[in-house]
Amino acid sequence: MDFDSITGQREVIDNLKRSLSEGRVSHAYIFSGPQGIGKKTIARIFAGLLLCDEPHDGATCGRCKPCLLMKNGTNPDYVSISTEGSSIGVDMIRGMQSDAVLRPMYSKRKVYIVEDAVRMTIQAQNCLLKTFEEPPAYVVVILLTTNYENLLETVRSRALHLQFRKYTHEQVMQVLRTRVGGSSHVLELIADYSGGSIGAALELAGSSDFSALRDQLFDLLAGAATGRTKDIFELSAFFENNRENIDVLMNIMLTYYRDLLVAREGGERMLINSDKKDIILNNAQNSRSSRIVESIEAIGTVREALRQNANYQLATDYLLIKLQG
Ligand SMILES: [Zn+2]
Repeated sequence: MDFDSITGQREVIDNLKRSLSEGRVSHAYIFSGPQGIGKKTIARIFAGLLLCDEPHDGATCGRCKPCLLMKNGTNPDYVSISTEGSSIGVDMIRGMQSDAVLRPMYSKRKVYIVEDAVRMTIQAQNCLLKTFEEPPAYVVVILLTTNYENLLETVRSRALHLQFRKYTHEQVMQVLRTRVGGSSHVLELIADYSGGSIGAALELAGSSDFSALRDQLFDLLAGAATGRTKDIFELSAFFENNRENIDVLMNIMLTYYRDLLVAREGGERMLINSDKKDIILNNAQNSRSSRIVESIEAIGTVREALRQNANYQLATDYLLIKLQG
């Protein structure tokens, strides 16, 4: 993949291309923006360009040793740091630093990518500062984060910040049409649910049971609003059985409540879930606007908490209570 194959994010890409062509590459970058918006993909392409022997016009040569190793995922001058756990500790950053003092093996540079950089503990961030303050000449570190503000000010001030933008509906559709194809009605729906994230859109498109999940969820939400114990249990079990899709479910729920509000304001023709108009209109009548807003806020809070690795059971239980009002 090269920069030309990327839809959108032109501002970021132009900036990176310029720094390459003018030889002004920074030692430290922070790529920030919502999930699934291309931060990692673009960081990887940039790394490939930094390592390639003969990059040309924003594309790698694809033939040199570093390029071939990059393709196999075995380039020792490219290191990606991520964690399955809840935090990136100081030991991981120290490990990176002891690797960084060794000169590159095949390229003029070494590139380190820290995924989900806000997961670095305070100690880890302070430790990283040493590299930011006195980087070996060949080192480039790229931090990826959904939450720029949560990084230490000292870290932020020493790195070049590139902000990634949400994609427009049309840009998401463009990617879906070329990479997924199929019924345009379904693609439109997926684009609406993606919240401007290509990653989320592709994930939605890839989950074969997207439509079924959505149907089920709509029925359950309508039931849960009544506050009947049986319905709450069913929704609870549904969350439990669909852990791996919870982010998708949260996005669907947000559009459901958003539509309830819109319907209450008489915006019947502006529903995202226009194919579910009957359910929406029926439930909109039975809900107060203030309660709908509370539900939307609760979903937003819980979605963020789950992305930060909050306890699944506690988070979804909290949500169930909030949805009952
Ligand atoms: Zn090359």
